Amino acid sequence: RQQEPPAGSGGERGSGPGPPEAPPEAPPEPRSGRSAALRARMEERLLGARFRYLNQQLYTGSSQDAARLFRTDPAAFHLYHRGFERQVRRWPERPVQRIVRYLRRRPASLVVADFGCGDCTLAASVKNQVHCFDLVPLSPRVTVCDMAKVPLAAESVDVAVFCLALMGTNLQEILGEANRVLKLGGTLMVAEVASRFEDTRAFLKAMTQLGFKTVSKDFSSSYFYLLEFTKTGPGRPGPAPGLRLLPCLYKRR
Ligand code: SAH
Repeated sequence: RQQEPPAGSGGERGSGPGPPEAPPEAPPEPRSGRSAALRARMEERLLGARFRYLNQQLYTGSSQDAARLFRTDPAAFHLYHRGFERQVRRWPERPVQRIVRYLRRRPASLVVADFGCGDCTLAASVKNQVHCFDLVPLSPRVTVCDMAKVPLAAESVDVAVFCLALMGTNLQEILGEANRVLKLGGTLMVAEVASRFEDTRAFLKAMTQLGFKTVSKDFSSSYFYLLEFTKTGPGRPGPAPGLRLLPCLYKRR
């Protein structure tokens, strides 16, 4: 269990991409439909429980574990995404829209890599060439791979994006991969659930060790933080203890 989420985030722990905690708006229940409604409620609960389990697996295992999980059970991935969508729809603003706005202000010639692209909203919303990476293809644009090892040449992209996608425990490896594919002076954009940050200063310090200088940090949303970095070099080897994000777990309500 982690710290309480900041005020305004609905008071729920880990107010990030998450399960549909509230039961869906049920249609009026005719008497004869009672048992059907009961069954629907039970199914919803089971889905919620399964979602929480999957979510926990994703935040407490490595990206390789996540890749194995979804390879062996692709249905799990679709379930996860349903829960993600339903949660993020409740937020006042989708973080990916912030990244869309950011990219639209910059030249469309910049090549982008979207790590953990989900349904490819980013690629669909900008003119840039966007390489979309995820574990299972929700869209034909997706290249299926583990984000810790993407099929791109070194120093081939201008902007790397992680939008609510820093899920694996092997953060250093994942961000190292972003560093590898980014050109020197290229941009790294991170949007991540606010309540996952335990010590933002330590996190940003660790990022410098990984070869990323902070350009801007936006903590104005109580739902997510938006961080912009520039690649300064390949990053120094060795442990980066400040590079820690709390898992985004949910409790049953
Ligand atoms: N960026 C999208 C989706 C965020 S949900 C948006 O903001 O809408 C997080 C995404 O990361 C999911 O689609 C999940 O499948 C993906 N993901 C998690 N671990 C991954 C891994 N190891 N490799 C590739 N994608 C991963």
